[in-house]
Formats: sequence, structure tokens, C-alpha cells
Amino acid sequence: MASGARSGAQAAPDQAAPVIDLDDVTRIFPGPPAVNALRGVSLRVNAGEYLAIIGPSGSGKSTMLNTLGLLDRPTSGDYRFAGQTTAQLSEDERAALRGGSIGFVFQSFHLLPTRTVLDNVVLATMYSGTPREEREDRARDALARVGLAHRVDFFPGTLSGGERQRVAIARAVCTSPMLLLADEPTGNLDRHNSDVVMELFDELHRDGLTIVMITHDLAVAERAERRLRIADGQLTELS
Ligand code: ADP
Ligand code: MG
Repeated sequence: MASGARSGAQAAPDQAAPVIDLDDVTRIFPGPPAVNALRGVSLRVNAGEYLAIIGPSGSGKSTMLNTLGLLDRPTSGDYRFAGQTTAQLSEDERAALRGGSIGFVFQSFHLLPTRTVLDNVVLATMYSGTPREEREDRARDALARVGLAHRVDFFPGTLSGGERQRVAIARAVCTSPMLLLADEPTGNLDRHNSDVVMELFDELHRDGLTIVMITHDLAVAERAERRLRIADGQLTELS
């Protein structure tokens, strides 16, 4: 766990509290016309849980993920992250909390094309206040963990889609986050690479990481231990 990374946040995250605690959260985009993208969402996720959220296009999935990732603010309701109320945090405090505690994986990888695989991962830890050498060791460990120790000096453009997503996962976990948020992580991958990425998620889950994954692929959602459906901004638990 990075130390000194959260000096901007009010308090260190509470490891015993639920990682996510949403209480009657709404998000209304003012428009016109106004859109109720989240309608009274309540959700509690404990440390170590692995969730999939399934829903059609336009149902509020990205709004939900942006809210959980402290990239967007609820219009009403309360979001407690690791025991900490987030509503009154400043943008800097939210950024510090996000940088130290939340990892992101996106459908389209978001790697920097002109930087090596190693640099892409090292750059994720840039604001942690840790010396470059130690950050580089951590990045190499993360890349070894996703099976890419032999690709550290490559550029993203020379890698397959599956390998690129594994770099993105290494980048997301090298800061030892409390929460991994994934938005359609297999959306650009064929079935084989999708399986490889899902096996990595299984491993991270076994190691205790809390994961929330958005997907419209039911086979992918089956990998999670808990599944929810979002439709028209409302969340329901699936059995
Ligand atoms: P999904 O990711 O499930 O496709 P989104 O969360 O992106 O859905 O969007 C949910 C609803 O909110 C949609 O009707 C969308 O058009 C609307 N929406 C999303 N972002 C904005 C925005 N910035 N301004 C206005 N409406 C938005
Ligand atoms: Mg979306």
C-alpha cells in the first residue's frame, strides 16, 4: 500500500467499513430535457466482494461507475467510500482518494502509445510520493503478476488487445487500490482473451481485491460472485 499518497484526503480509508456504501443516490443531468440517470440507488459492497452490474445501453452504467470512482458527484443521496462521506470533499481530496484507493480498467485500455509498457504502469504511481526506483519495482511486479514480464520494453501498439488490457490491469493494481472498477473490460476482446482477463480478475478476487465490473456479456457476469441489474437508473440484485 502506498504511504503518504493520501495526505490531501481528510482521513485514511477505514479498512473495516464497507468499501462502497451508496444511500439513495440520484444523478440528474439538468438538460433540457433533464435525465434521471440514477434513481435512488442504494448499494453496499464489503471488502473482498466481486460484483458485476449488467444493463442495456443508456441504463446508467457509466454514470454509476463514474459515481463510484469519484469522477462524478450524486445530485442527492450519500456516497461513503471506505467509511468516509465523500460529499463535502474538495476536488483535490477526491483526486487524492481516487489516486490512492481506486484502480480503473476501461474497454479501450487507455494506454499511452508513445510510452513503453513499463512506463505506462510506472506513470500510474507518479503522484504517490514514492521514489522512482521503488515505483519501477512495483510496476515490474504488477506486470509479472499479469504475465507480461517479457513485454516491459514493448510499446502498446505492438501488443495484442488481450495483452494491452493486461497492461491496463497491471497499471490499475500497482498502487494496491482498495477497489477495482472495470467498465466493459472485455468489450474489445475475443473470447480467448476475454477468458484470460477474467482469469486475472478471479486471481485478484482470490487475493482479496474488491471488484465492481460493468458488462453486458452474461458469460462474463457469471464470473462474478454477485450480480446486479441496472435498468433506467434503478439497481436490482439478481440471485
Ligand atoms: P450506459 O453507460 O448504461 O450506456 P450512461 O450512464 O452513459 O448509460 O447514461 C445514462 C443516461 O444518462 C442516458 O440517458 C444518457 O443519455 C444520460 N447521460 C449520460 N451522461 C450525460 C450527460 N453528461 N449529460 C446529459 N445526459 C447524460
Ligand atoms: Mg456506458
